[in-house]
This record gives sequence, structure tokens and C-alpha cells, in this order.
Amino acid sequence: MEDTILTISKVIHEIRNPLTLINSSLQLIESMHPEVKDFQFWPQTLEDMAYVNQLLDDLAAFSDKRRFFMCEVDLKEVVHSLEESLKPYVLMNKKHFSVHMPAQLPYLFGNPMKLKQAFLNLLKNAFEATGEDGCVAMSVRKYLDRIIIRISDDGCGMNQETIEALFTPFSTHKSYGTGLGLAITQKIIHAHYGEIEVASTLGRGTVFTITLPHL
Ligand code: ADP
Ligand code: MG
Repeated sequence: MEDTILTISKVIHEIRNPLTLINSSLQLIESMHPEVKDFQFWPQTLEDMAYVNQLLDDLAAFSDKRRFFMCEVDLKEVVHSLEESLKPYVLMNKKHFSVHMPAQLPYLFGNPMKLKQAFLNLLKNAFEATGEDGCVAMSVRKYLDRIIIRISDDGCGMNQETIEALFTPFSTHKSYGTGLGLAITQKIIHAHYGEIEVASTLGRGTVFTITLPHL
């Protein structure tokens, strides 16, 4: 098993090197020959490249079996950094994103980067499930010895079959999906001794609830 994981990370690394060069070449072509944007197959080429990049990132995160570095985490900082990272996407895609968080929150024991990645995967799905003017909300609150994080959207929702396969790797309903986002998120939450649950109604929207122990 260890050997397989090592081989996977080596393969990812070997693919990433030439891919970085191809990415740079595409950027250079676009800046030196702006007229290429009018070429029929250019947008598709860029989309395909973005997909391969995403697939490699997801495969790397999914096959990463190392123990996380854990420390005291201020969840408020993680959420603020998420808000900053998402601002350009929210603006460009005409979405609404609101965050509700109390002024005081206890710290938790975990890895801030991994937690950010877990929330980002959920938020990305939430935005992708909504159209223009779609609303996504994130709320954080303390309840007894737990912190409860809720990510909700007013998007397309899911049927029972999709819900049942939700955390199964490579199960996707998107033409450019990797089907790894939720599997990665679940792994991260479990590594923090937390739980993740979903409630969804077709055509109405979806709510993911994460419960994490705090310090
Ligand atoms: P991907 O986003 O690459 O498809 P994920 O593991 O992130 O992979 O999600 C798996 C599938 O779960 C998605 O393809 C989608 O069908 C469904 N899904 C996840 N989150 C939502 C959501 N908020 N609203 C509707 N469907 C969702
Ligand atoms: Mg996803």
C-alpha cells in the first residue's frame, strides 16, 4: 500500500512538471498573440488544461497519507482567509456569499490549511450548484463542546442516489468534475475527529453541517 501511494505521488509529480511548462506556454501564447482568443478551440483547450490541473491537485490531496501537522487553530482566521480567497470568484460570477460568525469562538486543534481546503471544497460545490444570483451562506457557532459549521446553498439540490454516493471517490455529475472534493473533505474532517452531514432537497438547495470538537 505504501509503495502504491509513493508511486502515485511520483506519477503526479512527473505529470506536473511538463504540465507547468505547457501552462506557461499557453499563457505566453495568449499574451503575445491575443487574437488566439478568437480561435474556435482556444477556450476548450484552456478548460481542458484547468481540468487536468484540478485533477492532479485532487489526486495529490486524496492520496496524501501523511499525518497532518496539528496546532491550535483560530477558526475565525481560517474563515476570513476563505472570504478573501473567494471574493474575486463571487464578484466575477455574480453570486452572493454571506458569513455569520460570533465575535468570540474557542480555538480548536487542527491544521488551518487542511480545514480551509475542506470548507473550500464545500463552498465550490455550493457555488457550482447555483446559477447567477445564487446564494451561499456559511455560519459558524459554538454548541457545548463542539463548533458547528453550516454551509448552505439555494442551488439544484440532490436526489437520493447522488446523496448516497456523495463521499465515494470519483463519483461526479459534472463534465469537468473529479469526484474527489467531498472524499477529500470527509477525510480532513475525520482527521479532526469531526463529523460531516448533508441534507438536500431537489430544486431547493443543500446544507452541509460539520461538527468539530474545540479546545
Ligand atoms: P465534483 O465537484 O468534482 O463533482 P465532489 O466530490 O465535490 O466532486 O461532489 C460530488 C457530487 O456531489 C457532485 O458532482 C454533485 O453532483 C454533488 N454535489 C456536491 N455538493 C453539492 C451541492 N451543494 N449541491 C448539489 N449537488 C452537490
Ligand atoms: Mg467538488
